[in-house]
Amino acid sequence: MIQRVSPLVASLLGVVLGVLATLLAVIATRTRPVADDPVATPVLPPMLVTTIEHLRGPAVVLGPHDEVLTESPAAASSGLVRGRRLAAEVLELVREARREHEPGVLNLNVPGGLGMPARKLAVRVAPLGEELVLMVADDRSEALRVDETRRDFVANVTHELKTPIGAVSLLAEAIAGAADDPDAVLHFTQRLSDEAARLNELVSQIIALSRLQSTDPLLAASPIDIAEVVDVVLDQARALADSRGITLTQHRSGAAFVRGDRDHIEAALRNLVQNAIAYSDAGARVTITTRLSSDTAGDWVEISVSDNGIGIAEADQPRIFERFFRVDYGRSRASGGTGLGLSIVKHIAAAHGGTVSLWSRLGQGSTFTLRLPAHHPDSDAEGTAA
Ligand code: ADP
Repeated sequence: MIQRVSPLVASLLGVVLGVLATLLAVIATRTRPVADDPVATPVLPPMLVTTIEHLRGPAVVLGPHDEVLTESPAAASSGLVRGRRLAAEVLELVREARREHEPGVLNLNVPGGLGMPARKLAVRVAPLGEELVLMVADDRSEALRVDETRRDFVANVTHELKTPIGAVSLLAEAIAGAADDPDAVLHFTQRLSDEAARLNELVSQIIALSRLQSTDPLLAASPIDIAEVVDVVLDQARALADSRGITLTQHRSGAAFVRGDRDHIEAALRNLVQNAIAYSDAGARVTITTRLSSDTAGDWVEISVSDNGIGIAEADQPRIFERFFRVDYGRSRASGGTGLGLSIVKHIAAAHGGTVSLWSRLGQGSTFTLRLPAHHPDSDAEGTAA
C-alpha cells in the first residue's frame, strides 16, 4: 500500500537528497585518479623537487599549462617568476621548446628594482618528457662585468704606456738632431730621464695593482703598529712637503694596531699623503689622524689623511677610485701621477677587510679615511696561553 507523504516532508526529503548528491559529487571529484583529470597538478618526483630546492641559481619546473610547479629559492627574486607564472619573454621560449621538443637559450637583461641591481641572465629551458619543462637561469652579470673591466684595463694600460714611450722616442730623435748643441742635448737628456722615470713609476704601479689582485696580503699578516707606519710615511714625505711649502702634522689617540701586510699599509698611506701634497698649494696643511671606533661589526682603526687643498667636485667623487681616473690630467702628470694610486689604496683596504672613503669639497680640501679592522695584540697572547 502506498502511503501519501505530506508536501512539507516531500520538500524536506528533496533538500536532503540534493545536499547528499552535491556531497557525493564533491567526494567523487576529490578521489578521481589524477590521470583522468585534464587540469590536475602533476605530482613531481621528490628527487626532482629536492634538486631544484638545492640549486643556487633561479630554477623552475613548469607543468603542462606553463604553471610553476616547483622553484628554487633564488627564482622568486630573479624577476623571472611573477606569482605562479613565468615572465612573458621566458614563456615564449618555453612554448618554442615544447613545440620543437628541443632545449632553448635566451640572454635576458632584467631591470633592477626593489633593492635588486639590474642583471644579465642566461636562461635555458629544456622539456622533461611530454608535460614538464625545466627552466634554469645563470646570472652572468658579474662574469661580464669582470670581463669588461679587464678589457678596459688593457685598453687603458696600452694608452697610458703609449704616451711616455712616444715621448722617449721623440726625445731620442731630438738628441740625435741636436748633436752640435750641448745645451739642447742636456735639456733633452733631462726630459728623457723624466719620461723614463714616469714609465718606471707607471709599470711599477701596474705590477703592484696586478699583484694585489692576485695575492692575499692576509696570508703573510702580522700585527702592525699604525703609529710606526704613520711616522715612516711622514718622514718619507717630509722633503717633498717642504719643497712645496706644505706642513705635515699628525694626531693620534691611543695605541692602534691592525693585522696585515705592513708594506701594503705603508704604500696605501704613502699614496694618500703624496696626493694630499700634490693636490694642495703652498701654505697648505696635511694632517694624519689616527683614531679607534667600534660598531656592531667590531673595532676599527681609522686613519684619515686631510688636506686643505683644491678639493674634488661632487660630480667627480664617485669615479675617484677608478683606475686611471684623473680630475685634471695635466696636474696629475706634473706631479708624477699615474691615476692608479687611489685604486691601489682601495684594493689594499679591501684585502685587509676594510674600506677607504672620501669627504671633499671643491676649493676647501679633502679627507681620505682608511678604515681597517682593529687588532688587539693582547688577544694573541691570550690565544697562545689558552
Ligand atoms: P694620480 O696618480 O693622478 O694622483 P690617484 O689615483 O692617486 O692618481 O688619484 C686620482 C685623482 O684623484 C687624481 O688625479 C686627482 O685628480 C684626484 N685626487 C686624489 N687625491 C686628491 C686630493 N687629496 N685632493 C684633490 N684631488 C685629489
